[in-house]
This record gives sequence, C-alpha cells and structure tokens, in this order.
Amino acid sequence: MRLKDKVAVITGAASGIGYEIAKTYLREGAKVVVADLNLEAANAAIKALDPNGGNTLAVGMDVANEDQVNKGIDATVQKFGKIDILVSNAGIQIVDPIEDFEFAKWKKLLAIHLDGAFLTTRAAVRYMYKQGTGGSIIYMGSVHSKEASKLKSPYVTAKHGLEGLCKVIAKEGAAHGVRANVICPGFVRTPLVDKQIPEQAKELGITEEEVIKNVMLKETVDGEFTTVQDVAEVALFFAGFETNALTGQSLVVSHGWFMQ
Ligand code: NAD
Repeated sequence: MRLKDKVAVITGAASGIGYEIAKTYLREGAKVVVADLNLEAANAAIKALDPNGGNTLAVGMDVANEDQVNKGIDATVQKFGKIDILVSNAGIQIVDPIEDFEFAKWKKLLAIHLDGAFLTTRAAVRYMYKQGTGGSIIYMGSVHSKEASKLKSPYVTAKHGLEGLCKVIAKEGAAHGVRANVICPGFVRTPLVDKQIPEQAKELGITEEEVIKNVMLKETVDGEFTTVQDVAEVALFFAGFETNALTGQSLVVSHGWFMQ
C-alpha cells in the first residue's frame, strides 16, 4: 500500500489513462476524487471503481473554469480533510494543419491543457502549503512534450508548456515539500487516440492501418502501443516517491519512441 490514506484528485479520470490511475491509486490505499467534465461518466466511474463507496468522490469540473476548479478542490477537502496528490490529466486532441487551424479550436485546446494545469495546481497547492505535509503534482504530458508531429500545433505547444510549469512548481513547491513531475506517454489506445486514427487517415491520405503502423507506432522498438497500465504505474511511482530527488523531472513512457 504505497499511498495509504493519501488523498488524490485526478482530472479527466472518467476515461482512459486517468481512470486507470484512479484504479491503481485505490489499489494502493488512496482516497480518489474523479474530477471530469462529464459528471455522469465520473459517477459511473466511481461506482465501478469503489462499489461499496467511501473511498471515492465524483466531481463535475471543467478544468478550464476557475470557479469549478476551486469548488472541486474545496469539495475534496470537505469530504476527505486534505489533498496530497494532484494528477492534472484532463486533455483533448484536435488535429489540423496550421493553415486551416481555427483560432477558437487553438484556444480551446490550450485552455484545457494549460489553464487547466494552472488552475488545478494553484487550488491544490493552496491547501498543500497550509497543510504543511507536502504533496505531489503530476502533469500528463506526452512524447509531444519533447517531440513534434504534423497537424498537432496546439497540442505540441501545450505539452511542451507543461514541462515549464512543472519546473517552476518544483522550485516554488520545494520549500513546502511539494514535488512536481511530468509523465510523457507515447500513443495509448484510449478514446482520445481512437478518434484521431480516422481523422489522421483523412488528413494524410492514407489508411487507418497505415496511421497506426507508419505514424503512431513507427518509431517504437516493438510496434506496440503504450498501455494505460504502463502510464498508471509511473503515476504511482511519482506519487509515492517521497523525497525531492526527482522533482522537476519528466519521464517518457513510450516503448522507445522517444529516448532522452
Ligand atoms: P480520454 O479521452 O480517454 O480521457 C480524457 C478525459 O478528460 C475524458 O473523461 C474527458 O471527459 C475529460 N475531459 C476533457 N475535457 C475536460 C475538461 N475541460 N475538464 C475536465 N475533464 C475533461 O483521453 P486519454 O487518452 O486518457 O488522455 C488523458 C491525458 O493523457 C490527456 O492529457 C492526453 O493529452 C494525455 N496523453 C494521451 C495519450 C494517448 O495516446 N492516449 C498520449 C500521451 C498523452
């Protein structure tokens, strides 16, 4: 039980990577708040994750909305008395070549990834600093925090930006025992990726199989997708790593697609 009695808020945890992190943290003894834009899905998630109740809370939260973020973090502390871990994970993908990218879509993507990371971090550290027991802030970056791909201008921009935010929080948070890290997964088969396969096939004029083989998994060492479990184990490692030795660091989890 590496997270016994820790309280974790995970954004975007009604689906995909966030859901698996919630499952893993519960297994390790944490109380988990599933914060998601889709409250119905968040409620269904906690029912499946915690059938007897008591160890989870579902919160409807648009991470780009200041008021909703503050209320969601307040509700966490009201229910469980504190917050020890924030996993800023909620995200979307929109693909288009730069010359066609609509400004509104650019702003929407940056707001969810960057405003969302800022707002959830600020709300969480305000409690962590007061509690005086430290904490762990984990950002869901991507190989696209390190690398670029065609058609993904706002996503690559936002994921690079999270690395900068992480380093600042590592420096500011150290005096309060608050650590910050970024996880950088390769392609993981979640709804976010399933949606992109036909979109990229259309944009690039190739088949869906070619998108998977020659675009998404081309640079991996084994032609394999990264799994939600791979990513959740790294999220557990960072959350449970109690010293400052790794603060400010990012870790790429990509089957060799990107090597530092
Ligand atoms: P997903 O679509 O399965 O889940 C994303 C969740 O975020 C959904 O439940 C959705 O409702 C929620 N969400 C969307 N907008 C939100 C908002 N404004 N406020 C709160 N919640 C919101 O996607 P996923 O693949 O699990 O992605 C999770 C994170 O992992 C994202 O940040 C994504 O960029 C990152 N990531 C994914 C991959 C991949 O290949 N799947 C790779 C690298 C990084």
